[in-house]
Amino acid sequence: MKIAVIGGGAAGYFSAITAANNNDNEVHLFEKTSKVLGKVKISGGGRCNVTNVVFNPVKLSKNYPRGERFLKKAFGRFNGEHTVEWFKERGVKIKAEDDGRMFPETDDSQTIIDCLTAEAKKNNVSLHLSREVLKLSPLEDGRIELSFKDQEEIFDKVIVTVGGLPKKESFDWLKKLGHAIEDPVPSLFTFKINHKPLTKLMGLSVNNAKVRVVGEKKLSEEGPLLITHWGLSGPAILRTSAWGARMLYERNYQFEILVSWYNKKSDQELRVFVADQKVALKKKQIKNNNPFELPQRLWDYIIQRLEIPETKLWLDLSKKELNRIVEVLLADKYQVNGTTKFKEEFVTCGGIALTDVDVKTMESKKVKNLHFAGEVLDIDGITGGFNFQAAWTTGYLSGLS
Ligand SMILES: Cc1cc2nc3c(=O)[nH]c(=O)nc-3n(C[C@H](O)[C@H](O)[C@H](O)COP(=O)(O)OP(=O)(O)OC[C@H]3O[C@@H](n4cnc5c(N)ncnc54)[C@H](O)[C@@H]3O)c2cc1C
Repeated sequence: MKIAVIGGGAAGYFSAITAANNNDNEVHLFEKTSKVLGKVKISGGGRCNVTNVVFNPVKLSKNYPRGERFLKKAFGRFNGEHTVEWFKERGVKIKAEDDGRMFPETDDSQTIIDCLTAEAKKNNVSLHLSREVLKLSPLEDGRIELSFKDQEEIFDKVIVTVGGLPKKESFDWLKKLGHAIEDPVPSLFTFKINHKPLTKLMGLSVNNAKVRVVGEKKLSEEGPLLITHWGLSGPAILRTSAWGARMLYERNYQFEILVSWYNKKSDQELRVFVADQKVALKKKQIKNNNPFELPQRLWDYIIQRLEIPETKLWLDLSKKELNRIVEVLLADKYQVNGTTKFKEEFVTCGGIALTDVDVKTMESKKVKNLHFAGEVLDIDGITGGFNFQAAWTTGYLSGLS
């Protein structure tokens, strides 16, 4: 069987290698740019966060704001455990970090690239660089014709792995074939906050913070929070952006958030704790006596925000001031004015509607012998290795079929 894979990313490589594993297949991989696996190279800060320790299909699928139900079935056949095993069988050991993210033991994304390219070569995948596919035309006999700038070529099967296309119009060639498209909008972005005293703290991080979007009860995420020179970043922000991708887009990225810097106690517990500190720390100055284990720079900033004199003693704090401490520690309000994608992982929410794809084979329900894999599908995960896992899984299943 003559097979074309369109797109030389993570999903494309996994599709092509899996398909080529069957000796009866002749597999051609077309990449529009002059190099393959560009995103793998820069992923995970150059280390490639390959997958996550969450292997259980049900639990794993819960990390996908788009695609949960679809992936639950797909992960039953290929999940993180299979990914780790797949790379191990090819000499690449994958290790887990404390937060669940998994990386190659070398901490170098090139290891993953070398493995995938070597495996493709070994399985005789023909790689065609700088070869953009412009059009797909299903033929009456079930085969599919691909159009390039200067020629046409016919294949028995085609796997589309072109990644997340940022513009709606970029999907026109696939929409014309009858596929429903969920409008693409960005996911996994960071928040721009124009508040100098906060951004002056750039580089500072809080391990267990909580972020809530005002007016969206369900949009609340916990985890590490990082202050940057443009605003806020870190897993808690990225997750909020993923779950709220569409909603925040509709608000034109103008919204308010509440930050909980101290996410260890409930409102009531913290009120009691703060009142106790007034007694316990008595004659100690508030500035040098922070009972919340917050970094000193952050505590200094919070005191400024509270408008409490640094030299004030715990004993002298008024009821109103104690309440204000609780308020700022648990629900510090900021206006977000836009997003950034600065050197961070980002993905596209939206793509080929999953109702048009058979989860067993990744085959289109609209065009026979046409399959999809990777971010081109309406699938995206939160940060932590979940986006690559979706690419490996859908790539593997499409290649297998
Ligand atoms: C900076 C950054 C860091 C990231 N880090 C991580 C991480 O550590 N862990 C994680 O899980 N996820 C990470 N992601 C997300 C992850 O990289 C993507 O979800 C994943 O690469 C998607 O794989 P894909 O193969 O579907 O698409 P892509 O990797 O985007 O590959 C698609 C390929 O298709 C080619 N193409 C497009 N159109 C055509 C055409 N018409 N003809 C021929 N070729 C075409 C493109 O040039 C591209 O090479 C990161 C993303 C970014 C941007």
